[in-house]
Amino acid sequence: MAIPRFGTQSRSSRGHGPQALINFDLNPEDLESYLDEYVIGQAEAKAVLATKMCTHFRRVRYMLERGSRFQDAGFVKNNVIMIGPTGVGKTYMVKLVAQRLGVPFVKGDATKFSETGYVGGDVEDLIRDLVHEADGDVERAQFGIVYLDEIDKIASSGNLIGPDVSRTGVQRALLKPLEETEVDLRVPHDPVSQLEAIEYYRRTGQRKKRTINTRYVLFIVSGAFSGLEEIIKKRLHKQGLGFMAEVTSKNDVEVNYLRFVKAEDLIAYGFESEFVGRLPVITVFDPLTVEDLYLILCNPNSAVIVNKKRDFRAYGIDLVFENQALRLLAQEAEKEKTGARALVRVIERALIPFEKRLPTLGINYLVVTEELVKDPLGWLSHLENTWRQPEWEKRYQAALEEEASRIKEFVAARKKSFARGHGLKLTPARLELAIKLHRRDDLDLHQALEELFILLRQIKNYERSFERRAGFKVTFSEEAVDRILKHIIELDQGVYAYCDRIVNLLEYGLRLINERTGKLNFVIPPEAIEHPEDYLNRLIRQTYQTK
Ligand code: ADP
Repeated sequence: MAIPRFGTQSRSSRGHGPQALINFDLNPEDLESYLDEYVIGQAEAKAVLATKMCTHFRRVRYMLERGSRFQDAGFVKNNVIMIGPTGVGKTYMVKLVAQRLGVPFVKGDATKFSETGYVGGDVEDLIRDLVHEADGDVERAQFGIVYLDEIDKIASSGNLIGPDVSRTGVQRALLKPLEETEVDLRVPHDPVSQLEAIEYYRRTGQRKKRTINTRYVLFIVSGAFSGLEEIIKKRLHKQGLGFMAEVTSKNDVEVNYLRFVKAEDLIAYGFESEFVGRLPVITVFDPLTVEDLYLILCNPNSAVIVNKKRDFRAYGIDLVFENQALRLLAQEAEKEKTGARALVRVIERALIPFEKRLPTLGINYLVVTEELVKDPLGWLSHLENTWRQPEWEKRYQAALEEEASRIKEFVAARKKSFARGHGLKLTPARLELAIKLHRRDDLDLHQALEELFILLRQIKNYERSFERRAGFKVTFSEEAVDRILKHIIELDQGVYAYCDRIVNLLEYGLRLINERTGKLNFVIPPEAIEHPEDYLNRLIRQTYQTK
């Protein structure tokens, strides 16, 4: 495949094709911190995925930079096997990383391959989907991520019912794409793709690239692998009692034997050794406990809660959860054994009657309580009879407080991640502001902090543009910046308009002092934001007294 040399690329062409990757400068710990903001638990999987995905794209970048003449014959892809039950964050994590890196991502289901028996065809369809995900940019698609779920279903059933030709067949068909193969972009005999090619030629005068190479496509496969634990246990037993004694001496019946998985166990499970060989990284996901599920609900970045809040906001209703309600929802969800997926279900079960009734009643907030979760219909009729009572307003305010404390605890437990991810000094005042944005606009916390960061950068830009215009500098102190942020968020005003209003009041006085004393930099304290005239009078008095 043709790899462009980057030294010769024009600046304006950056951001397309593989050039996007050239700006990729994250380290594994940056990615891990990013994942920490969203994903609860799964520490080991986070570390492994963050590291291996980061290395994969760094390595690709390194090769791109060296140009097409450099052939890295020893390139072994960091394709990954993820083992773990359903709903525990496998897809979520890969999607988050793909989003963060800006690489196209597609997900497919390995069972489809065996069911259709159309060996080889389906994985090629997935590769072609990468091109759609990359908005038709074939170059970029070649650095995408293909995620294949239910991979355990293509393990041959081994000696249970004789050799399983079709499943091993699927594994064999995957060998090439996993390593490197050219996939034809046009589906043979497909009139649509032929028309597309003609249309492309008409528009650009160039023939569309017809194949996509999978050399740099990262494959991640996953499955629950039921029965694998027994195989591992058996092997550990065979290896000697010493090891088993060590495991059981932890006095933990809940030892996750999957943690000890090795390639040979996967082969015993029904995979060909060549297939396992092309997936050199194995990572294991844990089942989610009640506490994990509770923490997912507390996470201000959690799609589960943010989505539900948006559903109610669409009717002008503010939805707030009490801690006890979240605990109960987590307990209920855990019983279903479908990981975090169950959370959506139990929340829907509890809230649908309210989603139906409240818009008619014209209530503008709903406090989700433990009683509501226990008996939604009973609680709804109680609410209908009592919602005008002032106690409700108090309970609502208290629930808002609880929510704010949950967010603060969440951030405090991930201080490093938040410091690393947003390039923003996260003072308590700023966190309060982010919480405000998070609540007001139903953003997740990550988005709210990004928003805050943008505002902060605009303030810095304002300072620079003022200096260029005025010939001397104003620098807002940290607290002054926080005050400005607070006002513009509360008033929903633009940074430039707000800063201009303040600075216009100060400029004449500051210029006088500048001309009289030659002072070139004015650090603006928070009082100046609240009472610009008083501040200026004081400053002028001080200047004239000392002169
Ligand atoms: P699977 O492990 O089957 O691939 P997913 O990753 O698709 O499951 O999980 C479904 C949804 O549940 C995710 O989109 C996410 O919102 C939530 N979720 C699952 N696991 C976690 C986790 N460990 N932390 C936070 N949210 C999670």
